[in-house]
Amino acid sequence: MKIAVLGAGIVGLAAAHALADEGHVVTIIDREGPAAGTSRGNAGWIAHTDIDPIASPKMLRQVPRFLMDPLGPLAIRREYILQILPWLARLILASRPSQLERSIKAITAIQSLAMPAWDRLSEQLGIGHLIHRRGSLFVYDRPQAFQTALPHYARQKAAGIHFDLLDGGEVRQLEPGLTDAIIGGAYFPDSAHVSDPRLITEALYETARAREIGFVRGTVARIAAGNPVVLSFSDRDPMEFDKVVLSLGAWSKPLVAQLGDAIPLDTERGYNVSFPGQTMVTRRPVAFPSHGFVTTPLDTGFRVGGAVELGGLDLPPNHERTRAIHGKAKRFIRDLPDFETGTTWMGFRPSIPDSLPVIGYSNATKSVVYAFGHGHYGLTQSAATGRIVADLIAGRPTEIDLTSFRPNRF
Ligand SMILES: Cc1cc2nc3c(=O)[nH]c(=O)nc-3n(C[C@H](O)[C@H](O)[C@H](O)COP(=O)(O)OP(=O)(O)OC[C@H]3O[C@@H](n4cnc5c(N)ncnc54)[C@H](O)[C@@H]3O)c2cc1C
Repeated sequence: MKIAVLGAGIVGLAAAHALADEGHVVTIIDREGPAAGTSRGNAGWIAHTDIDPIASPKMLRQVPRFLMDPLGPLAIRREYILQILPWLARLILASRPSQLERSIKAITAIQSLAMPAWDRLSEQLGIGHLIHRRGSLFVYDRPQAFQTALPHYARQKAAGIHFDLLDGGEVRQLEPGLTDAIIGGAYFPDSAHVSDPRLITEALYETARAREIGFVRGTVARIAAGNPVVLSFSDRDPMEFDKVVLSLGAWSKPLVAQLGDAIPLDTERGYNVSFPGQTMVTRRPVAFPSHGFVTTPLDTGFRVGGAVELGGLDLPPNHERTRAIHGKAKRFIRDLPDFETGTTWMGFRPSIPDSLPVIGYSNATKSVVYAFGHGHYGLTQSAATGRIVADLIAGRPTEIDLTSFRPNRF
């Protein structure tokens, strides 16, 4: 079949490979090129051990404290409050116990596919050297915050996820670069991170081109369901395909709406600062959950970032937020370079209120498959999503139950 994959982010590229494996004639379409969107500058964690949704009663209890601090881990841009209200209302609904349980079950299912899918894809493409398996740490500076997190760890344990709880001294034995402010944490030996999210996304693109997957630069302006599916562009002539995979990350909504689907996709903007050449500030990725940021020792340099800012796709970034994250990180990381020596970045997490991506057929036609909305875990879940997309295109049963991921669940 002739298949277009819209979006040369990590999700689209992984889907393109999975479809080429089945012998389809695949064309990737992007308005810029590979790694132009959120896949370019994220934290680079293959965080398959995370199974908690964003929405939870605990998170809602923390919201007032977070919102008091305009540069804290969660902020809503004043100019965007009205637009984000419906999404926020759904977020609150998603934290009801029944929905929470559904989300955890579904996240656990897709996360369980994530690492094996990455192992398979990286081996197939010969890019295993771009994935590091040094585990990850979640650390705390206040005993009460560590205590409060214990039910979260109990859930991970029940899901069969391996970790060790450590005191401050044990954390520092693993990571001498952390200061005495850290009083304990959890060590996940099985988690992984990539050499650099841009590099691995580009590697997926280059290996795709090498196996004759096509690439077309164009801005998709319209999609018309039918046989064939017709794509119109704002900057080139229309094109026709037997099937289309829609994986435009945070920019998927307008095309989805043209197909008659109302999906509550918005963006959680995130910020970071990277220090090129600084590769050994810590050995492995470290999360500071009470402060809403993470660090990653990428091969290209040390990265510090996180935060959630609800502000849509158009407002300019506010890098005072990045500076604030860096200021906090300085308390916990001994040799953190000065902010001014770093490179700042903001990205758009494609987020659905129930923390689950949308993977499934469009309601308009089985010829269009959606694969977007991976929120905080697009890099992690991309290889697994690619395989699911290939199953859907083939009309085969999928490895996991897709009910919770269906486009018509809203
Ligand atoms: C600060 C931050 C840290 C993160 N850390 C992690 C992490 O550690 N681990 C993890 O798993 N995830 C992480 N994420 C989330 C992850 O980055 C995203 O979920 C993932 O990159 C989404 O990939 P995607 O392919 O869906 O979208 P994108 O990478 O955004 O790709 C979408 C593509 O669509 C193209 N496009 C858009 N509109 C059109 C159009 N009309 N026509 C043609 N092309 C178009 C864009 O040019 C872009 O290339 C993080 C995100 C942020 C912001």
